[in-house]
Amino acid sequence: MGVLGDLAELVLPRRCAGCGAPGELLCPACRVALAAPPQRVFPPTSPHVPVFALGPYAGAHRSVVLEMKERDNLAVRRYVGAVLAGALDYLEARGDIPHGATLVPAPTRPSSARARGGDPVAQCCRATGRHVAPVLWLAERTADQSQLTAAQRRANMAGAVRLRAAPEPAATCIVVDDVVTTGATLQGSVEKLLAHGAEVPACIALCAA
Ligand SMILES: [Zn+2]
Repeated sequence: MGVLGDLAELVLPRRCAGCGAPGELLCPACRVALAAPPQRVFPPTSPHVPVFALGPYAGAHRSVVLEMKERDNLAVRRYVGAVLAGALDYLEARGDIPHGATLVPAPTRPSSARARGGDPVAQCCRATGRHVAPVLWLAERTADQSQLTAAQRRANMAGAVRLRAAPEPAATCIVVDDVVTTGATLQGSVEKLLAHGAEVPACIALCAA
């Protein structure tokens, strides 16, 4: 799938993944938009640690996340990985996160990750060149989050986040997600990691809805 996806990107006419303009993978205006520094955000369900977002769930940020998820666009995942790396460098330089933390992709259902040719968030994390520990996953029977109230999401998520393997002892982990909405997924993830002895100084999302 990876090779075929890469070939398709070489052969098919390319449009900007941020705005649809014909031409490059990402046009100059969208590259500038994606390079904006991450901001602290405050989801209603707090994961108990600071949450940063690279941008709003709008414009170029929203488009590249949709492109990453829906279109199996591996080139976009690699580009967003570089954007994420820049955001992590920025937060480290400011002292908002410790240097060299392990990236833990927010959990997905195994079936949905397969359907997308690999979990796009995990692929972005790997594209940063940093240490990645994809230790979280979501139980298959988790109800569709979009149909639930915030309280229901929180309860649903707390029971649904599973650990594939324990994080390394005293690992320092940053949870990475594509879109933060209620914060329930991040909260469930942070609680799971803390319960297994990891330190979780922050979470980061590509977009905040
Ligand atoms: Zn564009």
